[in-house]
Amino acid sequence: MRDIVMILLMLILIALLCVYLHISLSWHSIDVISLEAEEFIREKLDPAFDTERFRSYIDKLLQRIDFLDENKVIFFTPFYDRKRSQSSLNAHTGLPGQKVIIFTPGWAARLYRESFAGKSDGAITDLFAFVLGHEMTHKEQRRFIFLFGRKRVCAGWLREISSDFGGIRKSGLSAGRVRFCLEKEILEREGRRQRRYGSKTVLRPHPTWEYRMKCWESGRMTRELVDKICRDCGIIDRRFCDRMKRIYAEKPAGSMRRAG
Ligand SMILES: [Zn+2]
Repeated sequence: MRDIVMILLMLILIALLCVYLHISLSWHSIDVISLEAEEFIREKLDPAFDTERFRSYIDKLLQRIDFLDENKVIFFTPFYDRKRSQSSLNAHTGLPGQKVIIFTPGWAARLYRESFAGKSDGAITDLFAFVLGHEMTHKEQRRFIFLFGRKRVCAGWLREISSDFGGIRKSGLSAGRVRFCLEKEILEREGRRQRRYGSKTVLRPHPTWEYRMKCWESGRMTRELVDKICRDCGIIDRRFCDRMKRIYAEKPAGSMRRAG
């Protein structure tokens, strides 16, 4: 019996490894934007979308960004996110250990329009730099696998807000500028749904944009801010809150501590 269980576990592990390798190779083969994303944009967002023009625009844009650390930026909708709107502006870090940052086709269409924009206030490209910085900060953080319930949600909120501070710092923008770009490019366009994206309850892993922007007023992840987020998530376990402070709280003048 024990041998059968061991063999089954081995087979599951090999299957997971094959899936991981398959996904890695398919991401690796994408030249900036996937065929499926191109088709989606031409069909739903912009019939005149020109892939080569888009690639050269993104090349130029990425030359200005110096914190990517060999990560590849690609535009497509990952298999685990099919249900969410492909036209919205979302980004992901991909699977653990993979040097890739994924943006939705909606981002590609919006940046593509910017490439024709002439006199532009640069809000969408600034927002793009902030989101890249946010996702890169996620890559530096530890993932909490064995946390459940409110503690899991609280750690998720802390990860998001601390990555927001990372995004602001890496992009070299002020919190006010990021707020302006976010209001203009996402919250005004996508309305109340995005403004309330996340939750005011403790049931979802992302705090609302309104909550996040309020936290930015602290300027950095202070111990007081970690305390407040723990309280807002309904955490009464002081030891857990102290552990979160050791991981996420930043010193006044220093750069962001590596979480973990
Ligand atoms: Zn995030």
